Amino acid sequence: MITITVIGTGYVGSVSGACLADFGNRVICVDNNPEKIASFQKGIIPIYEPGLAELVNRNIISGRLEFSTDLASAIKESKVVFIAVGTPSLPDGSADLSFVESAAREIAAVMEQYTVVVNKSTVPVGSVKKVSAWIKEEQDKKGKSIPFDVISNPEFLREGTAVYDFTHPDRVVLGSDSPGALEIMKDVYRSLYLNETPFIETNPETAEMIKYAANAFLATKITFINEIANLCEKSGANVQDVARAMGRDGRIGPKFLHPGPGFGGSCFPKDTRALAKTARDYGEPITLVEAVITANKRQKEKQAEKIENAMGGKGSLKGKTIAILGLSYKSNTNDMREAPSIVLCKILVSNGAMLRVYDPAAMDEAKIHFETIKDSVFFASDEYNAVSGANALVIVTEWHQFRNIDLLKIKNIMSNEKYFFDLRNIYKRKEVEDAGFKYWGVGK
Ligand code: NAD
Repeated sequence: MITITVIGTGYVGSVSGACLADFGNRVICVDNNPEKIASFQKGIIPIYEPGLAELVNRNIISGRLEFSTDLASAIKESKVVFIAVGTPSLPDGSADLSFVESAAREIAAVMEQYTVVVNKSTVPVGSVKKVSAWIKEEQDKKGKSIPFDVISNPEFLREGTAVYDFTHPDRVVLGSDSPGALEIMKDVYRSLYLNETPFIETNPETAEMIKYAANAFLATKITFINEIANLCEKSGANVQDVARAMGRDGRIGPKFLHPGPGFGGSCFPKDTRALAKTARDYGEPITLVEAVITANKRQKEKQAEKIENAMGGKGSLKGKTIAILGLSYKSNTNDMREAPSIVLCKILVSNGAMLRVYDPAAMDEAKIHFETIKDSVFFASDEYNAVSGANALVIVTEWHQFRNIDLLKIKNIMSNEKYFFDLRNIYKRKEVEDAGFKYWGVGK
């Protein structure tokens, strides 16, 4: 049994830690946020992630998983240390590595035996070298010389299906020049290795690039269909049929061809910016990714324009009440980082609208993100409470419970104006229009 420390108990760290414990490893999850750790210790999961609570509690009971703020004790016992801290954007678009650097230096200060340090956070090409240098520097300061290897092992899980994704990955990427470290990592992932999950063993730079290339490609695919959708709206084509027909082409595939209000979340926006910045720094700009970033920003703003134009043009939102259904950047998560709802709601409020907002999981997050517009926002108790008295409703996130709204009921509780903006295309125009609403989707 390998003992592992996971530093950072956010979406990635907590899921990785719980799944690695479920694979039979002993895992100590450490965070420098004592409230988060206290919550996990009580079996209360501070994030919304389906299936995680059961997994955490099962592995705490089995004795393989624990949560702690005591990094030094955890590291002393561990052969493998995962760094799963945040890497947000800096103002110039590059990834902020300060949390990774702190973690690396903290590891160096307390390690007492050969350790494999794993970069699980999404970090730009060259970061394995940087982490190695920080650990070495810290050891030198203390006059220590304990052997270690740093390995890149990027994570591809999706929030909302994170437990399934971690336990059924399309591939595991391991980037290291150390055969010994690679063998230890295969032991860590033994359950997946035995299940014949593809393992891609490569050098650190390649592993680091794989993660950014994959995310930038997916972001590009979304942006491509969003721009096709915008053209469809103007030209009379229907993007859903276009996407369905495109997706039947085996070379293209049907996934990530759903148009919407622009991508958000804690990964695609910051990872596209970081890749673009890295490329510029190397003197090899990736102009396609630069264009994706610009188009995606525009896509978020365009939704607000669409609503204002539909409701009567410039100035028409003054005194209007708009219900916003769904605030998280996608369904099945409470994560609102860079969610399209934030841009949309702020523009609608600045154009004079009052909002009634509801999300099944992200209401606490929303109160933080909407602090500056809180005087114009009512936090509703459910979707029906949100639409009550509203002139328009806007579906921003495709939560399951919004797919089957009782149209008759909302028609009766809305104001006389009944605008229905379906930014995720989860309704058929005809059924909504037949129910008495004025319907707008995306690209149709
Ligand atoms: P997060 O912000 O949810 O969690 C990071 C955690 O690290 C926080 O709990 C914070 O308190 C803790 N932390 C920061 N510095 C620390 C330190 N020195 N010691 C102990 N704890 C510390 O972040 P996340 O969404 O889990 O993302 C983590 C990394 O994984 C990022 O690089 C991200 O790009 C990458 N990633 C995220 C996803 C995703 O869907 N969220 C998917 C794949 C990869």
